[in-house]
Amino acid sequence: MISNPVLDQSLATSIQRQKVCEIVGSTYSEENWQDWQWQMRHRLTKLEHFEKLLRLTSAEAEGLMIATDKFAVAVTPYFASLFDPENANCPLRIQVIPKQEEIIVSPTDMVDPCGEDDDSPVPGLVHRYPDRVLLLALDSCAAYCRYCTRSRLVSQGEMNPIKRRLDAIIAYLEEHTEVRDVLISGGDPLLMSNEVLDNLLGRLRGIAHIEFVRIGSRVPCFLPQRITPELVKVLRKHRVWLSVHFCHVQELTPEVAQACDLLADGGIPLGCQTVLLKGVNDSEQALKNLFHGLLKLRVRPYYLYQCDPVVGTAHLRTSIQTGLDLISKLRGHTTGYAVPTYVIDAPGGGGKVPIQPETLIAYENGQGLLHNWEGKTFTYIDTVE
Ligand SMILES: *Cc1c(COP(=O)(O)O)cnc(C)c1O
Repeated sequence: MISNPVLDQSLATSIQRQKVCEIVGSTYSEENWQDWQWQMRHRLTKLEHFEKLLRLTSAEAEGLMIATDKFAVAVTPYFASLFDPENANCPLRIQVIPKQEEIIVSPTDMVDPCGEDDDSPVPGLVHRYPDRVLLLALDSCAAYCRYCTRSRLVSQGEMNPIKRRLDAIIAYLEEHTEVRDVLISGGDPLLMSNEVLDNLLGRLRGIAHIEFVRIGSRVPCFLPQRITPELVKVLRKHRVWLSVHFCHVQELTPEVAQACDLLADGGIPLGCQTVLLKGVNDSEQALKNLFHGLLKLRVRPYYLYQCDPVVGTAHLRTSIQTGLDLISKLRGHTTGYAVPTYVIDAPGGGGKVPIQPETLIAYENGQGLLHNWEGKTFTYIDTVE
C-alpha cells in the first residue's frame, strides 16, 4: 500500500492528542479539545506530565524539577500535542519547557529588564511614552514562555485582580489627557471572560481622549480555541487592534489559521511580535518561513525583539550582530510587509530602540550615499532651494 502523507499526518496528530489527554487525566473528544476552558483546566504543568509525553533530556528533566517554584510551567494540551517527542531541539519545546540553565544568573541579567516598575504611576499601568500606556491586565497566561520579560509578575500571584485595580487606572487615564493609546497586555488579556473584557474595553472607550486601543496576546498561538465568534464581536465592537505573538512557523497550524481568519474577517487588524531566540528562529530560513506564513494569514510582522536580559534566559539569547545580519537578509530580499522592525527594549527603561543595518553610508554636502539590498551603492542628491 502506498502511504498517504496527509492521512499519516492526521493519524499521528490524533494519536498524539489522545496521549496528551490521557496524561492529564481526561479522554480525547473533539468537544473537549475545542473548548478553551477545558484546555486551560487540563494544562501540563510538571515533570510527571512531560516525561510521559516526551523523551526528555536531562537538562529538561532537571529544569522541570527546579523551575516550577521560580516561574510556573504550564502548557495547553493543544500546544503540547505539537511537540516533537523525540527531539529536544523542537522549536516549540525550547520556548515553554524549562532547562537546567534557567538557574544560571548571568552578570547582565535583570529581574525587570525594561524598567517597567519604575515607570508605573498606579499598580497595573506603565506610563513611559508621553502619549501611550501599557495596561497589565492579568497575572496569568495560557502557557509560560521561558524568556518572559514579565516573569517577575506573571504566574507569581504578584498582581491584584484587575477588578480591584481598575478604578485607580481609569481615574489616572481620565486625568491624563495626553494619553491617546492604551496597550493592554499582561498576563494575557484574552484569558478574561468576554464580559470582563467587554467591560474593561467599554470603560477605556468611555474616555474621550483615548482613540486607539490594542491588545497584546499569545492566546491565538497557545490556545486558538479561545478565538470564538463571540470574542471577535467584543473586539470589533470596541475597534481593537490585536498584536499576536508567534515565534516559529510550526505554530501556524490549521487551528491557528482558522482563528486568524475569524479575527481578520471580523475586522480586527493583526500584527505579530516575535522574539529572536537561539535555536528557535535565529536563521534566515526560520524567519522567512514564519513571516511568510504570517502574511498568508493576514498577520503583519510588527516587531522582532532582541531577547530581553531577564534572569535565567542567557541560553536563549543571540547577539545583536545575529539580529542585524538576519534583518539584512530580509530587507529588500522579500516582501516589505514580511520584514518587522528589529528592536531592543533598552535595559533600564529606555523604551524600544530600532536596530537597523546601515543603509545611508555617508551624507555630506547634500549628497547621500546609499547602500542597497544587493550591496550596491547609489547617490541621492538633495534639491538646493
Ligand atoms: C511597547 C510599549 C508600548 C507600545 O509601543 P509601540 O512602539 O507604540 O508599539 C507602550 N508602552 C510600553 C511601556 C511599552 O513597552
